[in-house]
Amino acid sequence: MISTRQRRENVYGNSNRHWLGCRCLFVSNMKRVSSSLGRLVKVSIIAWLTLFPHVARTEPRLDIISVDGLFAVSDEQVQTIYADAARYFAQVGITFRVKYLAVDYNPCIYKHSLVSRESELKCFEVFTTRRSKVITYIMTPPFVTVDEAYGPQTAWIAGIAKLCGNLATGNAEEKSLSKGVIGDSRLMESATVMAHEILHTMCATHNNSAPNIMHPEANRFTQQYSGNLPVLEFTKRQVKRWYVKRRKANGTEQ
Ligand SMILES: [Zn+2]
Repeated sequence: MISTRQRRENVYGNSNRHWLGCRCLFVSNMKRVSSSLGRLVKVSIIAWLTLFPHVARTEPRLDIISVDGLFAVSDEQVQTIYADAARYFAQVGITFRVKYLAVDYNPCIYKHSLVSRESELKCFEVFTTRRSKVITYIMTPPFVTVDEAYGPQTAWIAGIAKLCGNLATGNAEEKSLSKGVIGDSRLMESATVMAHEILHTMCATHNNSAPNIMHPEANRFTQQYSGNLPVLEFTKRQVKRWYVKRRKANGTEQ
């Protein structure tokens, strides 16, 4: 039995080793690397996202951990999803340093249900780093339910985040098996979920005055806006306040 502490150290121990060796990996170089302990954790890639080293030293870090399972997205798809979500982060003035990790089992599988997303969030806390300023996003496989009247569909709660916290989780989305859980809209919808939840960690709150990325049901508008939902000035101000406060508290320390 591997302890919580060991598991966390596996994730971060391995990623840190590659972090030193790979300063600038691009998608074409991506590969999964087995951990030295072999079984539980695989580090997929480390991406030093920004092309600007001076920004890289000061911008916040985001760890994206994809969890394997039924209909989970591939490592490549995780990066595509992030690339879409990053357009929203650019609009609020944030460039993340991103680290991608993958876990080949779901430690919280029994909590991954419509009624217990909060306990799932709690369960995944094991994967957050000890450095509280690093934001961790857990991308889980879709939660597929079977509904007699409407056919198979995923939970409509797409994700959950700690407001002004450092942990968010969201589904690799697609609403319905009948439309194809791995259908065309999947990456786009997953990007909406990712952006929405990560914006929560930066203190953005819900606003349902119009369709926008922080609408409580933002995902519903993904298709209508072709994956480019508006970002309200209200949201930009909230994130700016978070950023300024964070920098004051931490300087450039990450
Ligand atoms: Zn929300």
